[in-house]
Amino acid sequence: MVGTGPDPDQGNPGTRRSLWLAYALLVAAGLGAILVSLLQVLDSKQLYLREADKANANLAYSIAQHAQESLKEADIILAGMVKLLERGENSPAVINELLMTYKQRTSQLAGVFVFDAHGRWLHTTTPPPTPDASNSDRAYFQHHLHSMSRDTQVSNPVLSRFSGEWVLPVSRRFNDEHGRFAGVVVAGIRIDHFRAFYKLFDIGRQGTILIAMNNGTVIYRRANTPGSTGVNMSGGHLFQSDLKRSPVGVGASISLFDGVDRVYAYRALDHFPLVVVVSMSRDEVLAEWGGKAAMVGSLVALLVLALILVGSSLVTRLRKRMDAAQTIARENRELFHLANRDSLTGISNRRQFDQALQMEFHRAATVGTPLALVMIDVDFFKAYNDRYGHQAGDVCLKAVSDVLRRFKVRAGDTVARYGGEEFAVLLPHTDLAGARLVAERIRQAVYEQGLVHTDSPAGVVTVSIGVHSLVPIEADGPQQLLEMADGALYRAKNAGRNRVCLADPAP
Ligand code: GH3
Ligand code: MG
Ligand code: MG
Repeated sequence: MVGTGPDPDQGNPGTRRSLWLAYALLVAAGLGAILVSLLQVLDSKQLYLREADKANANLAYSIAQHAQESLKEADIILAGMVKLLERGENSPAVINELLMTYKQRTSQLAGVFVFDAHGRWLHTTTPPPTPDASNSDRAYFQHHLHSMSRDTQVSNPVLSRFSGEWVLPVSRRFNDEHGRFAGVVVAGIRIDHFRAFYKLFDIGRQGTILIAMNNGTVIYRRANTPGSTGVNMSGGHLFQSDLKRSPVGVGASISLFDGVDRVYAYRALDHFPLVVVVSMSRDEVLAEWGGKAAMVGSLVALLVLALILVGSSLVTRLRKRMDAAQTIARENRELFHLANRDSLTGISNRRQFDQALQMEFHRAATVGTPLALVMIDVDFFKAYNDRYGHQAGDVCLKAVSDVLRRFKVRAGDTVARYGGEEFAVLLPHTDLAGARLVAERIRQAVYEQGLVHTDSPAGVVTVSIGVHSLVPIEADGPQQLLEMADGALYRAKNAGRNRVCLADPAP
């Protein structure tokens, strides 16, 4: 139990390091789990948004296709009509029948109308509101009146003068035989045609489908806020930026209509000045992701919590064990001290001296080197006690031991309180001459301390010293060395004290 070697746990840097390592691993594992799942969750959010973009773009493509077909059908009718009129066909019976056939076969048409150069109703699928009604005030009429272009014109939606419903006018100009303006042919596409188609698609509760003029006028917008036909939204991001950059694309913005944050895909029609936009609410797109993220988050939180609980309990246990080891080591040191040190002087006690003597004797016997023993006894110490008191006697013993301590120069040297006012110094590898020299120096040093002792002939505290050295023989044991040194001490006392004596070679 008792050892003089280095304490295994006294602030052991290795053990401290492993404790810190355990802490660091614990924190790293927790942070790692959080980081990895955070990245995973953010990545899957992007995936959801990309999927929404894809779905929007696909739907925008279908919607654009549908609008394109509807307009093209109307345009074919207009082109045929223009040809017929310019060839001089003006029989109301023929033309009205033709117009009725077109209207019946083409469900998106609210009506087809032919206006003369003054905007009066020449031929029509529906009778004019009044016989002399004129449509010359309509934007499409004014356009064709002032433009020589024979191209198709799509105009802003208007409220039908006949049915009161919203229609999208698609129109062409026709000329007389001299190439002069003769009138306008108009096909009105029912806005309801778009509504009926757009309601077929699942775009979520807050999704929208929009078809608009390139100038920003809304043709129809499927949304939870009704009645946006005719509204101008040219100030929006789509018209200000997206369409200027590219005829097809995706984006995200907060709606001008209802403030909802949406992701959208848009597409301009190939042959007509129209654009379609499909959008979904970001909240709805990410609703499922949010649920999953919350689940992953709670799982990770649980995991990290478990990690912290288990880890910190392990670390705490490790720490307690380390503390216990340190306590044991400290107690061992204290026990070692108690068991081996003299409590008054702090030098080795008799017990440790005996152990050291046994050990050094054995070692010297094995190696064949000399072992010296110096026995020291304070002179007239009883008298010192009597005169100066026991406590002063203790101080004197401490002073003597302090002197002796200075003579412990090699690791193997032992300076011990042998008992009472008697001390011993064990010097391995030291022959008689060497030991005698050390003894003489000790005597001198004690004397030179000059501790006043009026009852001593020297006037100060002195010591008598007996010295012996031998090359031990294992079988003999250390007894002879002790006896010889003790005998020498006895001789020093008898010879008058305050001196060093060797053992009597022939006792
Ligand atoms: P000598 O010169 O022959 O050695 O005479 P001495 O008086 O020193 O020897 P003696 O053996 O007669 O007396 C030793 C005294 O040492 C007796 C004892 O009271 C005292 N003593 C022993 N241990 C202690 C101690 O721990 N403290 C004190 N103050 N005195 C002690
Ligand atoms: Mg004595
Ligand atoms: Mg004495």
